[in-house]
Amino acid sequence: MKGKCIIFSAPSGSGKSTIVQYLMQHEDLRLKFSISATSRAPRGSEQHGVEYFFLSDAEFRDHIQKGDFLEYEEVYGGSFYGTLKSQVEEQLEAGYNVAFDIDVKGGLNVKKYYGDKALSVFIQPPSVEELRRRLIGRGTETMDKIEMRLAKAEEELSYAPHFDKVIINDDLATAQAEALQVITDFLVK
Ligand code: 5GP
Repeated sequence: MKGKCIIFSAPSGSGKSTIVQYLMQHEDLRLKFSISATSRAPRGSEQHGVEYFFLSDAEFRDHIQKGDFLEYEEVYGGSFYGTLKSQVEEQLEAGYNVAFDIDVKGGLNVKKYYGDKALSVFIQPPSVEELRRRLIGRGTETMDKIEMRLAKAEEELSYAPHFDKVIINDDLATAQAEALQVITDFLVK
């Protein structure tokens, strides 16, 4: 396999997606985004095949049965999220580096699968309180859902030491620069 994997995991609202999008703009990194499959409904302007492959519960279970997933998780009680092997392998074979934006357990599973071919990066929010402010500010979810995510965030933060690199996203520009440096170093190795 020619390409490498860069895995980004973090509690939601930590700015992970913004950092990944910033890195995707650097064409010299030859990054392709790993589009996950999910059984949750699209939010806002999300489109099938862009942010996610949106599948029904039955379709998702069918892929599980066939062993099509590199990893999958049931997140937030009910919704499935998973990485399709074919998605990743095609890009690696074509010589692209694949960027993953997935939850902490999925991230560690992908790292275990690819070993030295993968770099796992944990994006850490400055505090749970700051995370609460960001999720409320984003305005895409009800308070119930936000509280659920925060409870999950507390648990996810405990996984940080298992990642190859931890980047604290206090100031976005600083975190982006640090992420760019860490990834560039890994890709030239
Ligand atoms: P959201 O619903 O906000 O898009 O994502 C919810 C959570 O699912 C996030 O923590 C996200 O990183 C995670 N997630 C997205 N894709 C995958 C995947 O393929 N596998 C796993 N295990 N988690 C994922």
